[in-house]
Amino acid sequence: MVKERARILVVGGGYVGMYTALRLQRRLKRELERGEVEITVVTPDPYMTYQPFLPEAAAGAISPRHVVVPLRRVLDRCRVVIGEATAIDHAKRTATITTLATEEEGTGGQLLTYDELVLAPGSVSRTLPVPGLADHGIGFKTVEEAIGLRNHVIEQMDIASSTRDPAIRDAALTFVFVGGGFAGVEALGELEDMARYATRYYHNVQPEDMKWILVEASDRILPEVGEEMGRYAVTELRRRNIDVRLQTRLESCADRVAVLSDGARFPTRTVVWTAGVKPHPVLAATDLPRNDRGRLKCTAELAVEGATHAWAAGDAAAVPDVTAAEPGRECAPNAQHALRQAKVLADNIVHTLRAEPLQTYEHAYAGSVASLGLHKGVAHVYGRKLKGYPAWFMHRAYHLSRVPTFNRKARVLAEWTLAGLFKREIVSLGSLEHPRAEFELAAGGKPSQDPPVNPKGSS
Ligand SMILES: Cc1cc2nc3c(=O)[nH]c(=O)nc-3n(C[C@H](O)[C@H](O)[C@H](O)COP(=O)(O)OP(=O)(O)OC[C@H]3O[C@@H](n4cnc5c(N)ncnc54)[C@H](O)[C@@H]3O)c2cc1C
Repeated sequence: MVKERARILVVGGGYVGMYTALRLQRRLKRELERGEVEITVVTPDPYMTYQPFLPEAAAGAISPRHVVVPLRRVLDRCRVVIGEATAIDHAKRTATITTLATEEEGTGGQLLTYDELVLAPGSVSRTLPVPGLADHGIGFKTVEEAIGLRNHVIEQMDIASSTRDPAIRDAALTFVFVGGGFAGVEALGELEDMARYATRYYHNVQPEDMKWILVEASDRILPEVGEEMGRYAVTELRRRNIDVRLQTRLESCADRVAVLSDGARFPTRTVVWTAGVKPHPVLAATDLPRNDRGRLKCTAELAVEGATHAWAAGDAAAVPDVTAAEPGRECAPNAQHALRQAKVLADNIVHTLRAEPLQTYEHAYAGSVASLGLHKGVAHVYGRKLKGYPAWFMHRAYHLSRVPTFNRKARVLAEWTLAGLFKREIVSLGSLEHPRAEFELAAGGKPSQDPPVNPKGSS
């Protein structure tokens, strides 16, 4: 029984936001029924994205709808508001929210008042002032980006197949990925695998015609799986003819030419930027304390330092890693922490409402699994190292057990099973991005879709 009516505002509907709200609605079921508690989740999309499945969605192994979890269905006792928090005044316990309606009405933001705040807007791509990056770079954090990239890669193969100009063909078949973390390596591994498979349906594109390049600034990739497994991943990718360039940076991609710090130049129409993340910029529009890297300063109880009734976790929060040997270490921004932190965070809100003592967040990183394409992977979990098929199988088993809801697990498993029986999907549905183009043409208007990118580079 809580003392008085509590309005809980959850900003963000990703890992932390969804799991926190899910646990709160379970643990506060009676209070919600009696109207003593109200939970509002504000998030720009009506779904939570299971990001570790994005590379498989890009490869066509999982359909986009099954990579996301519908928030209104799973958070059926919460109020889900599709919108964005643009500012938070925690001293006054108010958040400014913009929704599609406020945009249309031109009324500016709505003010939402709360008693407990959960701030979990996650992170955004960490970009650098590389010439041409803002114009030509492609991110890999959302389901839209993953499917867009899949369509783009297949479209490049179609361009290469239909042109007589060798320069256009070369640029179309050159794919540059920047950043050797989870997102970059898995996306490259899955897409290269898919594209190599797809070449069997092209009369004039062979696997060896394609250039896949991974650019990484440090001397290793996949630090999450440890040094030995990271080295194995480099060897495995190079064995597939993927050009892995360590201790190398992208210096420019202006005019659609990727220029690397080792002097190499690659005309290309594909530069995928996965060189790390930074905390969401909305954190700067709050009166809550941040560290020098922009993450919210938090205690091990997941409360924002020096602020009462404000909580944070996940990529946006600097949570002390109490299991680390050296003091001052923060939990890394990954799903493993986000998921577990969400549970402790929700429990601590319940404890606060019930005037009970708080729990400390304590989790030693268990290691990681990464896919390098169909039937290929690398893993280092609880001291066990696996590579090749066993690692790939573990990757799938682990993520199947983790993807939220039984419904999603069943659908993903059905897709994988069917994919084992039939040939891979190699279709590009890029035209879905311009659904009105056909009708506009029929109606005599000018199609409003973007003109095709000039393959010679002056787009
Ligand atoms: C391709 C890819 C693969 C990955 N694979 C792995 C993996 O294998 N293992 C692993 O441990 N980690 C992995 N990660 C990292 C993991 O997904 C993140 O660490 C995790 O999602 C962080 O959770 P979060 O809740 O902090 O942020 P998110 O899950 O990103 O959620 C943030 C939410 O806040 C919303 N939001 C943003 N701004 C606002 C605003 N102003 N108002 C309201 N809502 C807002 C966003 O739309 C989003 O819904 C991967 C990430 C990527 C991109």
